[in-house]
Amino acid sequence: MSNLTFPIELWEGFKPSHIEQHDRSLKIHLTPTSRPRCHCGTEAQHIHDTSIRRVSERTILDYSVTLMVPVRRLLCHQCGTRTEHISWLKPFSRITERLANFVQSLCPLLPIKHLAQLVGLHWHTVKELDKARLRREVREPKWGQVRRLVMDEFALFKGHRYATVIADADTHQVLWIGEGRSRAAIRPFFEMLGEHCENIEAVAMDMNTAFDLEVQEHCPNAQVVYDLFHVIAKYGREVIDRVRVDCANELKGDKKARQRVKRSRWVLLKNRTNMSDKQQSYLDELLDANRSLMVVYLLKEQLKELWYCKDEETARGLWDVWWQQVQESGIEPLIRFANKLESYLPGIVASATHPLHTCRLEGMNNKIKLMKRMAYGYRDTEYFFLKIKAAFPGDPR
Ligand SMILES: [Zn+2]
Repeated sequence: MSNLTFPIELWEGFKPSHIEQHDRSLKIHLTPTSRPRCHCGTEAQHIHDTSIRRVSERTILDYSVTLMVPVRRLLCHQCGTRTEHISWLKPFSRITERLANFVQSLCPLLPIKHLAQLVGLHWHTVKELDKARLRREVREPKWGQVRRLVMDEFALFKGHRYATVIADADTHQVLWIGEGRSRAAIRPFFEMLGEHCENIEAVAMDMNTAFDLEVQEHCPNAQVVYDLFHVIAKYGREVIDRVRVDCANELKGDKKARQRVKRSRWVLLKNRTNMSDKQQSYLDELLDANRSLMVVYLLKEQLKELWYCKDEETARGLWDVWWQQVQESGIEPLIRFANKLESYLPGIVASATHPLHTCRLEGMNNKIKLMKRMAYGYRDTEYFFLKIKAAFPGDPR
């Protein structure tokens, strides 16, 4: 094909000279229609040299399109030897801005793999485009307004490495994510926060970390609060699971009852209000038949009350009652758990003064796990972190 003219100027400063067709793909050779311009705006008098760049363009009626672009280097009297400025093609880029924008507009809607197939680009190219989009879109936090934080850790790929996420407890914007879960790992966050550290009033976290020491070092006015979500998760692992296994072992002779106990983990940890009638009656039967399970289940519910008190004094009163019942229960894993928990009591009763919505933290934790499963193939930590930040942009204050 030759002498083909398009009714509109598709590539500013260039026009097609000839087009080759191979199966379902078109190779469009372009030729300049004007003198090259430098990035400073100066029109060049001298062309230094020209090289042909292969550039991917959006498809035309199901035909994939490659442009052959003669990119010129010019001699600018101000800047010296420079590559010409092309309005629709970034320096060194091998895809047009039109295609890049199209891909980026679809990134929130399609998985990278499918999008790459659709536009005929390598998934790596699509991922880099999405990364550029996220970098542009993720909002810088208003550091001076941050008062309360929540911190959480999560396992990175395959669980060999960890990362820590820090969010604003009030807006739920993710402020920072870093690899690791040690004190040193989170230090860059506080260094970045700088003078605003003084504004921090409360920080919610899992009691199983060394974060509290780091917080105390940087934020002189912050109260550490241990969040309900993590304490109950720990209770599930260290108390309910143990007692459940012991119960199941005692029921060796009764296969049906044993199975019932073995499969009960979920129903024991779930909130009763979120259960169907069938699940509730299953739970009731289970608890009726196993005294220890009943005790640890009820004491779990009672322990939760500590996070919903109107003041710290009430919370301490509830703790004393709970503590007494634990000691009287004679259930070893429960007593061990309570003994360990006691040293964290100031950070637990503090939630009466600083109620930090633990259900939001739990929701965040779950959403990150889900995103990890979807982003697993990329092994690109920076990309994954950007996606998390974009997923938690924060509510308006
Ligand atoms: Zn110039």
